[in-house]
Amino acid sequence: MMKKKAFRIALSLLLCLPLLFSAAVCASAKQITAGDITIESIDFQREDFIRGMDVSSLISLENAGVKYFDEKGRETDLLKLLAQNGVNYIRVRVWNDPYDEEGRGYGGGSCDVNTACEIGRRAAKYGMKLLVDFHYSDFWADPSKQKAPKAWENGSVKEKEDALYDFTFSSLKDIRDAGADIGMVQIGNETTSGIAGVSDFADMAKLFQAGSRAVRAFDRNILVAIHFTNPDRTDTMKWYADCLDEYSVDYDVFAASYYPFWHGSLTNLNEVLSYAAQEYGKLTMVAETSYPYTLADSDGHPNTVNQWNNSTGDDLLWDFTPQGQAEEIRAVMNAVNNVSDAKGLGVFYWEGAWISVGDTTGLPGDEYDAQVERNSALWEQYGCGWAASYAGEFDPDDAGKYYGGCAVDNQTFFDAGGKALPSLKAFMAVQGFTRSYYLGDADTDGTVSVLDATAIQKHLASLIRLSDEGALAADVEESGQEINILCATYIQKYLAVLETGCPVGALRFV
Ligand code: CA
Repeated sequence: MMKKKAFRIALSLLLCLPLLFSAAVCASAKQITAGDITIESIDFQREDFIRGMDVSSLISLENAGVKYFDEKGRETDLLKLLAQNGVNYIRVRVWNDPYDEEGRGYGGGSCDVNTACEIGRRAAKYGMKLLVDFHYSDFWADPSKQKAPKAWENGSVKEKEDALYDFTFSSLKDIRDAGADIGMVQIGNETTSGIAGVSDFADMAKLFQAGSRAVRAFDRNILVAIHFTNPDRTDTMKWYADCLDEYSVDYDVFAASYYPFWHGSLTNLNEVLSYAAQEYGKLTMVAETSYPYTLADSDGHPNTVNQWNNSTGDDLLWDFTPQGQAEEIRAVMNAVNNVSDAKGLGVFYWEGAWISVGDTTGLPGDEYDAQVERNSALWEQYGCGWAASYAGEFDPDDAGKYYGGCAVDNQTFFDAGGKALPSLKAFMAVQGFTRSYYLGDADTDGTVSVLDATAIQKHLASLIRLSDEGALAADVEESGQEINILCATYIQKYLAVLETGCPVGALRFV
């Protein structure tokens, strides 16, 4: 591993040499150590580059008692913590009706319009936009499953078009009314083999178009994305881009999944996305990626990538550590950033907070079994595993047989107890930052409160001395001057929701 890394650094230096006097391509990228990880920053071509995360299962996990903690062990709102670490966009999946007749959730977060409303509202509170990922199914839609929602099951393509339009429009209205800042909408999820039970591309295009029309009618500023898997199948991916053009589907973003253990090399990923950018002028992105920080399981449900199944892509191999995970995110973002014509819009990490509901790590036989049983009860009750038994009516062959817990708890940014891993800092390190703070947080406890005004007053009276970090945060006018009593006054005004004329409470990165 070390050898490979050293080789890569040497190679990147070599590649930079001809550019030394001609371009700033390499000049601004530098090694950044943030906490316990070190990665190279990225010279982003787009100011609006998305460093996103899918947290669809969040509400079900919280309902089951899961809590999140920052790297210092302080309990916090997950969405706040993500924003503080440089995540700028949140993705949520929406299923039409993931419930049985008795109202019991199918699991996998039992994600519906309501969960999207709640996650979107909280994301907006911390300044993050929302990507709404419509599956147009009642449960998982992926390359092997694109089953129509129960309510649409027997409809014709035309009837599905109308239903899809209405569902899209009304859902977006609900989600925005809840307070979310919707920036993008996915018309279908991993629609490699179909969408809503339709698999002929001419019919698929009609449904894509119906969804797109609904988004356009709702708000012209929202981006429309179409999402396929397997960028490793280069020609097939290009064929999708050609078909979308042939059928005149109106969309903005050509999206791919990129799981390095399945989906080939980053060079190939870049080629596929660049094709859609060059041929059709589309924005491109990776809608899903993830990588394990460990091969161990922590909830008693087998993980997708584990000791027995951990092959990685063609020419890539990162360690299964938080450092390796940080390198993976950095590498995928870099590949997207390098898409032709600056058409690489960004990357979403998939379910980066879907942690164990009860840690099974290292438990001996009986205790392990008892913990798994407790976890199973939570998965059933709150829908926080990949599937509950109640999903069997909709998906008998898979969920009906293999329902259970989480298969990606080893690919999150949190340990089994919910504490942030060092790799979460990758989202700020790629931007060249090592930490963040809120303007006004003079006592550096992570929030702006009356205690900060008091700390400034005491500092000015020489009763205490603010830390260097605290003094920087206390300078709410960002004047670079010595702090004065006005800083405390502005904080008090901010807390009383009065106009201050300066950005108290704003998140800053350094
Ligand atoms: Ca697991």
